[in-house]
Amino acid sequence: RLYVPDDLGGGAQVETAREQAHYLAHVLRMREGDGLLVFNGRDGEWLAEIAALSKKAVRLTVREQTRAQTPAGDLLYCFAPLKQGRLDYLVQKAVEMGVGHLQPVLTQHTQVPRLGLPRLQANVIEAAEQCGVLSLPTVHTPVKLDRLLAGWEADRRLVFCDEDAPTNDPLAALGGLKGARLGLLVGPEGGFSEAEREMLRALPFVVPIPLGPRILRADTAAVAALALIQAVAGD
Ligand code: SAM
Repeated sequence: RLYVPDDLGGGAQVETAREQAHYLAHVLRMREGDGLLVFNGRDGEWLAEIAALSKKAVRLTVREQTRAQTPAGDLLYCFAPLKQGRLDYLVQKAVEMGVGHLQPVLTQHTQVPRLGLPRLQANVIEAAEQCGVLSLPTVHTPVKLDRLLAGWEADRRLVFCDEDAPTNDPLAALGGLKGARLGLLVGPEGGFSEAEREMLRALPFVVPIPLGPRILRADTAAVAALALIQAVAGD
């Protein structure tokens, strides 16, 4: 299953990128006439046939649609950038768990202020190819936490992973949110500062949730919170 940026439709000819050609020819050992699925995030999923194959490129002929396009997810996942390996994991898992938007957030204790957006985007595509989503989550440019909160959409709630949440029952805290537009906020490895936590807890759209008595790494906390959100409020 391959992501291609081109428009898709019956009879269209599509050429893959060089790395994809290598993957198809040398890793999967595919041959002319073999079929594979392609998607571009807009036109649904299509069955395509390998028309020509070389080291540099594979030319595909698009045959028939296998799935119609579905709307993109709406969940806005706000995360402090982490070191590269953990960030790769976090992005992959977020796509698998159905987030619609990836929003990097700069907090007081964010240790990795720069983000490799091309690598992040490549991880999004790879995860989407693997897990079968038809829409690619939107990758937003990093924003400071206070600016993110100042511009928060009025009809969206923000689930805030808070080690000191006023309840020890995350399911109860998420209980009323079925059908609501949601965001999720997970802190950096250094956690949120006390001032940030106070600011967050005072906001009417913020829903603090605990994730158990242990301190989880930020990438683990994200997966746990996304699983809870999907179980309680997701589809
Ligand atoms: N610096 C913090 C400390 O040592 O107390 C730990 C921060 S933790 C590694 C990173 C983020 O994961 C936190 O900011 C929080 O959003 C989330 N997190 C980790 N464990 C959690 C828990 N038990 N409940 C809620 N959120 C948690």
